[in-house]
Amino acid sequence: MMAQYHGLKAQAPDCLLFYRMGDFFELFFEDAQTASAALDIALTSRGDGVPMCGVPCHSADAYLARLIKAGHRVAVAEQVETPEQAKKRGGSKALVERRIIRLVTAGTLTEESLLDSRASNWLVALAEAGGRIGIAAADISTGRFELASVPPSGLDAELARIGPSELVVAEGSANSPPGAVTAARSAFASGEGERLLKARFGVATLDGFGSFDRAALAAAGGLLAYLDRVAQGGETFLQPPTPRAADDHMAIDAATRESLELTRTQSGERKGSLLDAVDRTVTGAGARLLAADLSAPLNDAAAIEARLNLVGRFAEDGAVRERLRAALRALPDIGRALGRLVAGRGNPRDLGQLRDGLAGARDLHELLDRLEGPPALLLDLLPRLRGHGALVDRLARALVPSPPIDASDGGFIAENYDAALDDLRALAGNARRAIAALEAQYRLKTGIQTLKIRHNGVLGYHIEVSAKQADPLMAPDSGFTHRQTLAGVVRFNAPELHELASKVAQAGAHALTAEQAHLEELIAAALAQRDPIAAAADALARLDVAAALAERAVEGGWCRPKIMPHACFEVEGGRHPVVEAAVRAAGERFVANDCKLSEESRLWLVTGPNMGGKSTFLRQNALIAVLAQAGSFVSANSASIGLVDRLFSRVGASDNLARGRSTFMVEMIETAAILSQATERSFVILDEVGRGTSTYDGLAIAWAVVEAIHETNRCRCLFATHYHELTRLAGRLDALSLHHVRAREWKGDLVLLHELEAGAADRSYGLAVARLAGLPRPVLARAKDVLSRLEKGRDKTGGIAAGLDDLPLFAAATEREAEAPDPLREALAAVDADALSPREALELIYRLKGLAAED
Ligand code: ADP
Repeated sequence: MMAQYHGLKAQAPDCLLFYRMGDFFELFFEDAQTASAALDIALTSRGDGVPMCGVPCHSADAYLARLIKAGHRVAVAEQVETPEQAKKRGGSKALVERRIIRLVTAGTLTEESLLDSRASNWLVALAEAGGRIGIAAADISTGRFELASVPPSGLDAELARIGPSELVVAEGSANSPPGAVTAARSAFASGEGERLLKARFGVATLDGFGSFDRAALAAAGGLLAYLDRVAQGGETFLQPPTPRAADDHMAIDAATRESLELTRTQSGERKGSLLDAVDRTVTGAGARLLAADLSAPLNDAAAIEARLNLVGRFAEDGAVRERLRAALRALPDIGRALGRLVAGRGNPRDLGQLRDGLAGARDLHELLDRLEGPPALLLDLLPRLRGHGALVDRLARALVPSPPIDASDGGFIAENYDAALDDLRALAGNARRAIAALEAQYRLKTGIQTLKIRHNGVLGYHIEVSAKQADPLMAPDSGFTHRQTLAGVVRFNAPELHELASKVAQAGAHALTAEQAHLEELIAAALAQRDPIAAAADALARLDVAAALAERAVEGGWCRPKIMPHACFEVEGGRHPVVEAAVRAAGERFVANDCKLSEESRLWLVTGPNMGGKSTFLRQNALIAVLAQAGSFVSANSASIGLVDRLFSRVGASDNLARGRSTFMVEMIETAAILSQATERSFVILDEVGRGTSTYDGLAIAWAVVEAIHETNRCRCLFATHYHELTRLAGRLDALSLHHVRAREWKGDLVLLHELEAGAADRSYGLAVARLAGLPRPVLARAKDVLSRLEKGRDKTGGIAAGLDDLPLFAAATEREAEAPDPLREALAAVDADALSPREALELIYRLKGLAAED
């Protein structure tokens, strides 16, 4: 047996091996140690000292879920023949043959119990070709399949958008993200990818799906090969690939997503994220689509308007919205049911879900088809809800109202679907009734009133009497045959019972076979419609999202944003959806604030006391941009927004101490990314940048960053800072204006008004905030003394910003930088590389190094 075990283990060395033995999956050796620790189950050992632990098959899913969550992968080795077959094949000592039937990995799950119904589950493969990184992303629980390619610098942002559950790269890949699994390199090639795609979708050319570059095809090759390995020859559900260009949505890099907490908070929770504050969807598929929408806001005005029109329609029409939502709420998740059926793990209940879901789609079609002046997107969606009549009718006739998950006991095919099946059931039923009648006869015959006919898995039907009354039945001529004696009871058989029991068993077995055959036919019929079913599922999800966003808008008094052709950002009465909810829950009022950025006034410098509401203001505006371009109404009274091509959010380092890297370094790397990438159409929020270092350095960096954004990037920008000195920039930079969050000291207490006002803050209120926070009185008094000294010093010398007023303008400074002679460059420019001998080249390198050292 151990030889068989090791053979199987060698096929999946990177997985924990679940080795089927009877009613258990057993794990051995290191696997057993790992699993027993992860699952908190007993670690035992075999007679020969091999460590082992086991989980019962019937609850294996729950254990699998925990192992996958803990980051493991599992190979499931099943028995592929019965012990009888094994004996027939190889004699009495023959070992039952086992085979790995599938790998269970985080990115390739289809089981309802292992998946989060409200989150997509992406498997992503990466490949490099022609200087680009190909990204193949598949969610096999619903069949979604996307191919893209990005320059290496864009990879992090795309991965952050997708949020894969599992990543696969070729063995030996140079830049493999942490946690990625590796697979044989041979499949990660564009030729192989193209071949596998064509074979899988049965096409001679991929042109019908769109165009894919070499990197994307290579990634597709890696993904398809990996899926095949995981399914071990079984099928997985993939719809034809859709090409995805990284520039078809607002670019949001990983750091910005994290800082804005779009779909997860910084601690990884859904609760507290923008998604959580917005999500009013009533179906799992709707929740998944909303998460995808918020992760990839559109940058095409027409597509945004199309979504907004639908949301707007549902926002106006409360009655339709309510009926739509009530109907959607009752619908099963047909996308995932289909995924399980394709993967060969479908069950009668999945078919029942298709029946109910598609019937529901038909009803919704009727409801929505009557709307007058339907928005274009609705006209697009409606046809996908129809056309499943034949399948629905067939499933409705074939299946009982609530089919079971487990097909093995039968009972899922309805009456009147198959006359032969009905006959078999009648036969079994009659025989069962006859058995029940036998009980009364035997009681009469034996005079034992407590005699019972029972059934169990081992003996089948049998007669049971208490031990005290068993003697007469033991007599050879009693007509009863002894089967079993237990502590209190004795069990018998009898010829009539035996005959009837065989009838029941035979009819039952035949009925079961008939039901299984029907199940297969019905599954095949459903799978023949897989593309239209998937399209219906997608359409239902889109309707759910639109109705949910309408619901949210009505609930929060949100407005429809106007999408403008120029780079403006004018929001009146803006609110932060998450903070507003928190503030309200605490019984307080959220103060709405305006933000008006235009080409002439595109950079707002926001000052004011800590806790005054600066970060909230910055973020709420970034979130409003995300919501608007995702096609949602926004948390404001009115909003006009010019399309944002890239969104950036950075927070000064000291908030991010938990990350453990040199936080100031991170802050600077991220700021550098903004300066190099933000365009005139971008939107940037910078919160206390420069705070992670000493005051002088920090102020200097903040100053230079504001200047660069204003002069070079020219994007819309909100910049919060506690460096009061920066307000001097207002005099030099035309498009920069000053704003502050208001605060008042009242009877010695600080009152934070959270209200934004034009102009610079009059003071920083640092000590007042400290007092609010409960700093001990003696410390406060001492701080006051120190402050007044510092202020006196500042008045005399002009403070840390003294001299900044004479600083040359940013543009002049950058020119000077560019013009300054650079001996290294000059020396390099003078080199005629072709004319150099190797020796001269070496000397040249020494000389250049010398020049560099002088710098
Ligand atoms: P800052 O960045 O100025 O330190 P924050 O934006 O972090 O301040 O806000 C601090 C707290 O003030 C928030 O957690 C919230 O409770 C409250 N707050 C912020 N903005 C508002 C607002 N507009 N209305 C009501 N309360 C607010």
